[in-house]
Amino acid sequence: TPDAVRTYRIAAIPADGIGPEVIAAGLQALEAVARRDGGFTLDVTDFDWGSDRYKRSGALMPEDGREQLKDFDAIFFGAVGAPDVPDHITLWGLRLPICQGFDQYANVRPTKILPGITSPLANVGPGDLDWVIVRENSEGEYAGMGGRAHRGMPEEVGTEVAIFTRTGVERIMRYAFQLAQSRPRKLLTVVTKSNAQRHGMVMWDEIAEEVSRDFPDISWDKMLVDAMTVRMVKNPRSLDTIVATNLHADILSDLAGALAGSLGVAPTGNIDPERRGPSMFEPIHGSAFDITGKGIANPVATFWTASQMLEHLGEAAAAQRLMRAVESVCAAGILTPDVGGSATTQDVTTAVCEAIRSEN
Ligand code: ATP
Ligand code: MG
Repeated sequence: TPDAVRTYRIAAIPADGIGPEVIAAGLQALEAVARRDGGFTLDVTDFDWGSDRYKRSGALMPEDGREQLKDFDAIFFGAVGAPDVPDHITLWGLRLPICQGFDQYANVRPTKILPGITSPLANVGPGDLDWVIVRENSEGEYAGMGGRAHRGMPEEVGTEVAIFTRTGVERIMRYAFQLAQSRPRKLLTVVTKSNAQRHGMVMWDEIAEEVSRDFPDISWDKMLVDAMTVRMVKNPRSLDTIVATNLHADILSDLAGALAGSLGVAPTGNIDPERRGPSMFEPIHGSAFDITGKGIANPVATFWTASQMLEHLGEAAAAQRLMRAVESVCAAGILTPDVGGSATTQDVTTAVCEAIRSEN
């Protein structure tokens, strides 16, 4: 008897700007890879949440939005943000409630130079830069703690308080060590700013030491975030898995994305390693209204994050097949303008689907 075909329920939230264009592309690629694999199907439900909904009704997502998402196997997210809606409203109105509501505490950002894509670093090509940045996604500098006193007065004070808990740091550290262990080089760099910040950052260093004792096979080191930016540029081969706070990893991953060639290729997973609810997968880039509707958005970041999603669902073979197809299409020079080509979103998507179908 044939194995039962597994069905995964996917919540698609394309949202704003180029989000719908890249999510449509990603769904085509996922469909192609599921058909080729034969072992699973995807049951996709579309949610029209985002800035248009905000302008119609005053909220980006419904009040019971999290309840609506909780039984899905994964969330496939586009981009949020619109020129006529303030950034803090779009940020706090959709992505963050989902990330925090499902306690997706590990934000995982693979970065490598794909074939056919040129890094701004001289003499650095595919194979020289292959990192995964693990960003603490639930607390730290973005805990929303702080306030303003004497607003508008000369003596006004604004505080922005970073909150680090032992539970929060320990779980992200453990996740990072495990991820490093799953990769061939078994190399981890723990980033802090513990020379200038003497409390939470020193606690990070201490917890790294403690957790490392459970991972004797991992070679790891500590870096200050400022020195880390230099090392990423000067010695990319020396790095593999990287773990940092919410703020530090936010900044480092933008740098990493730029070094890998374009924002248009950088993916991310917001993961709850304990799988208490769905994890969420999205391209790192935003809504990019300057190119919205032109059909030239780079879909590669979305393909890559779709591959991350398949991996998370347990479909590693399909995840790898999708990435092989993406790499072959990039290597063949079928690229959108942001990475120096002249192909459209649909040209790249069609080529990736074709590569999935025709691979031996
Ligand atoms: P947001 O406000 O949501 O962050 P944004 O307009 O600032 O959106 P970003 O996504 O942050 O846009 O990207 C900055 C620029 O990079 C865009 O204006 C766009 O030109 C380019 N860009 C981003 N993503 C892509 C992509 N997938 N394909 C091509 N170009 C992109
Ligand atoms: Mg932006």
